[in-house]
Amino acid sequence: MDLPFAESYKIKMVEPIRKSSREERETWIKNATYNLFKLRSDQVFIDLLTDSGTGAMSDRQWSEMMLGDESYAGASSYFKMKDAIQSVLGFDYFLPTHQGRAAENVLFSVLIKEGDIIPGNSHFDTTKGHIEYRKAIAADCTIDEAFDTTLSHPFKGNVDAVKLENILKSKGDKIPFIIVTITCNSSGGQPVSIENLKMVRRLADKYGKMVVFDSARFAENAYFIKLREKGYQDKTIREIVLEMFACADAMTMSAKKDAIVNMGGFIAMRSKELHAKASVYNIMFEGYITYGGMSGRDMNALAQGLFEGTEFDYLETRIKQVEYLGKRLMDFGIPVQQPIGGHAVFVDAKRFLPHLPKEEFQAQTLAVELYLEAGVRGVEIGALLADRDPVTRENRYPALELMRLAIPRRVYTNNHMDVVAVALKNIYDRRDSIRKGLKIVDEAPIMRHFTVSLDLA
Ligand SMILES: *Cc1c(COP(=O)(O)O)cnc(C)c1O
Repeated sequence: MDLPFAESYKIKMVEPIRKSSREERETWIKNATYNLFKLRSDQVFIDLLTDSGTGAMSDRQWSEMMLGDESYAGASSYFKMKDAIQSVLGFDYFLPTHQGRAAENVLFSVLIKEGDIIPGNSHFDTTKGHIEYRKAIAADCTIDEAFDTTLSHPFKGNVDAVKLENILKSKGDKIPFIIVTITCNSSGGQPVSIENLKMVRRLADKYGKMVVFDSARFAENAYFIKLREKGYQDKTIREIVLEMFACADAMTMSAKKDAIVNMGGFIAMRSKELHAKASVYNIMFEGYITYGGMSGRDMNALAQGLFEGTEFDYLETRIKQVEYLGKRLMDFGIPVQQPIGGHAVFVDAKRFLPHLPKEEFQAQTLAVELYLEAGVRGVEIGALLADRDPVTRENRYPALELMRLAIPRRVYTNNHMDVVAVALKNIYDRRDSIRKGLKIVDEAPIMRHFTVSLDLA
């Protein structure tokens, strides 16, 4: 008999979590104005709000914390991070930032001006926020297959070559760079193939543009390339990572994802000149160029995390757990984005609650139901997140209304995944009885989903 699969680590420290009653949860979610971001974490049993900064650091990372150098300038921790970025990602220059959106803020301050167009594959919300804040436009060039959750395509994060070339041809003078998100968070944690990255590079060269990778889950992207792309089976994750980044001029990184730290980020680039320009903004917004909003100990843990996060055994453990949850849901007949992404399972709320109008926020309604059912916190990736059109101020209804269940790295066991799956099955069985969705009571002008107040429709 083949031995079953098991985690590539054992547990040395634990953190208690608490179950609550349905009555308690009813009060709490009402007080949180049906916005899961406004719950206290102790009101949540299994927290799948995000995989960002919620991972468990290893004993090696905690050891690195003790070795952190907190010198204001020239700390050894800065050089440790520089060496890790050079050897794992292949970039000679970098700037630390306190997290991913800070990296976007600094880099975009150099590269984007009013009226610009930034083509990419389903830009992440903070990325889009930083583009639109500068009165520029994020142009989505993702392949059409990404928007059909029933279609199984190995690289649903791919950029559509025709869409990209059309915009480069017609609006080239307004395009400072192309951004590719690996894996593509907004389209469901879906990977981009090496072949596609090379296509983007060729078109960028043809039209004289820079390529930037939004790299939060680059290692998960490399894992999928190894498993799915022809010719990559025998390459190591690190070899694939270097080949991916060889297609980029610069990258932004939220280290809270694949570098498995609780806080941190950076920008990396090949150009010394771009580094010099971005340094000015880094000093203004983040901190001096050798710490950029991070403590020395956090830079150390990040450096170690870049090595651990690109180990095959770790990635296999992680992605198999996400797949496990996805498969359980599929066995119950629950509509999920296929294939299952790297960091999360995305439930298709339009197909789960087809009788609710989109104006009543199907995915948010489902997320609230799941919380009430079992104290499980997911997050809406749908119309609330899509915000209003910056010009017309009309609600934008994206092609997909998804509830994301993001799995923190090295945190939960498959028993927790079973609770989530059965809770969703119970809701699925009584889905016809969910007659009302939600309506907005109050919202912020940009990135409203974090703070929006809702009520029953
Ligand atoms: C998380 C994330 C960001 C933003 O990073 P933060 O660390 O949350 O500021 C940007 N892009 C992608 C693809 C992300 O997943």
